Amino acid sequence: MQKALIFSAPSGSGKTTVVNHLLKTMPETLAFSISVTTRKPRPNEEHGREYYFLSEEEFKSKLAEDAFVEHEMVYQGLYYGTLKTEVERLWAEGKCVLFDVDVKGGLNLKKQFGTKAKAIFLKPPSIEILMDRLTKRSTEVEHMLKERIAKAKEELSFEDQYDVVLENDVLGETLKNAEALVKNFLDQ
Ligand code: 5GP
Repeated sequence: MQKALIFSAPSGSGKTTVVNHLLKTMPETLAFSISVTTRKPRPNEEHGREYYFLSEEEFKSKLAEDAFVEHEMVYQGLYYGTLKTEVERLWAEGKCVLFDVDVKGGLNLKKQFGTKAKAIFLKPPSIEILMDRLTKRSTEVEHMLKERIAKAKEELSFEDQYDVVLENDVLGETLKNAEALVKNFLDQ
């Protein structure tokens, strides 16, 4: 059966760590949905691995072709979207598709996929810890950091709309809980 696992969380909640751990632990079963973005690649990122990095013009032409399952302007002037072809490709491989998207995108996917999907909200233990993690990450310039902090605060209010809330306090435990949750969903 076609299945989808949707992970959303405020920036700085440890979402990428959890998602990468699951992909490494269950490579035969899970596959990452590579999104399109118009933001520039970070030094360690590769086109076709973390994202498909497109220009705004290319993104808009995909939009005109109705190529996206969902898309959002996640940050000012920066677009992100999930391609229909990406989801179809991974389902055709018999994989459960794993999404790392913002809260609005996550709820949008959940609405479209219905019972095929489990939507998981990863929650930082406290707003103070979240701010601390975001500030230390320093991959963003100052004005982007401020925008990310503001968005993270807003995103925290969406947890009630998710199927499961997973608190990321002690990382080792979070990873174990995430694994158990995913296995349980896959066995259903
Ligand atoms: P970053 O720029 O840090 O990689 O991602 C910023 C935010 O955009 C994260 O919350 C990430 O989950 C979200 N995001 C990544 N891909 C997509 C997508 O295809 N759609 C939506 N709605 N959000 C996405």
